[in-house]
Amino acid sequence: MSRLCAECGARAVEPCAVPGRTSAYKHFASLPIPATLPIPTCANCGTEWFDRKTSERLDAALAEAAAQQLSGLAGEALGVLSTSLNQRDLEALLGLSAGYLSKVRHAKERPSAPLVGLLALLADRPARLDEIARIWDTGHLPPRLTVDNVSLFESSVDGPAAVAY
Ligand SMILES: [Zn+2]
Repeated sequence: MSRLCAECGARAVEPCAVPGRTSAYKHFASLPIPATLPIPTCANCGTEWFDRKTSERLDAALAEAAAQQLSGLAGEALGVLSTSLNQRDLEALLGLSAGYLSKVRHAKERPSAPLVGLLALLADRPARLDEIARIWDTGHLPPRLTVDNVSLFESSVDGPAAVAY
């Protein structure tokens, strides 16, 4: 028998397992909820009701989806970076233990979000691998853009024409 919906008052809350549902999870804006996961849902107003068991199952499913997404992103980024640097050297550059990235690539290790974020940024601009090496070499961050050198840069691009639009 259906349960009462506290939102609309209809006796229409029943476990519902359908594809196409998503949920925000940690830093992810939207992860897929497994089509097989039943969530008590009001057939009248669509409100989902999360009891403890449902919440636990959903959390476990989203944790798995997040881990899969991180692994996928890491694999993609490592594929790009492999054209710039071999995996061993990349591990050394990032202070990772030897063989770690191979395990990540073959889904034997689950990479952390910060590592995946770093790999993604490096894959976007592989020249930054050299910047990291330089930071380790010098112990200093590279020079940053300041108000002074930003205005220098802008005025040197194409002079007054740049402000015409
Ligand atoms: Zn309802």
